[in-house]
Amino acid sequence: MNLGNCPRCGKLFANNFRDICPACIKDIEHEYEKCLEYLRQEKLATIQEVHDATGVSVKQITKFIKEGRITVANNPNMMYPCEVCGVLIRENNMCDSCRTRLTRDLSAAAKEDFGMEQGGSADRKGSGAYSAVDKFRNQ
Ligand SMILES: [Zn+2]
Ligand SMILES: [Zn+2]
Repeated sequence: MNLGNCPRCGKLFANNFRDICPACIKDIEHEYEKCLEYLRQEKLATIQEVHDATGVSVKQITKFIKEGRITVANNPNMMYPCEVCGVLIRENNMCDSCRTRLTRDLSAAAKEDFGMEQGGSADRKGSGAYSAVDKFRNQ
């Protein structure tokens, strides 16, 4: 039996299958019921409206959407904020423009790493950018 602290309430509990304690699981189920009930009446509600009406945190509602328990198909305005810029989105963790930028940054970083490795071997051969740096250092 593994004992761990529940990330939601901080209490010690035996974590066997779920990553949060049984009390929190019950809490979240209850919150889910509240959201669902509200959304049944207010099909066009936004995440902010659900939060205001139910008191459930936007973060938790976002989780329900990401888990597919609340669907944009049933409630078209249930969009959640992009993790980076906060623009409202319907899928993934970030909006298209942030994702594009991140992908570009990542490939640029990968290229830089690659360049460093190449530079390292070029150093031994005494050519490329690294030899220039060496010359500068030796002065
Ligand atoms: Zn808990
Ligand atoms: Zn974004």
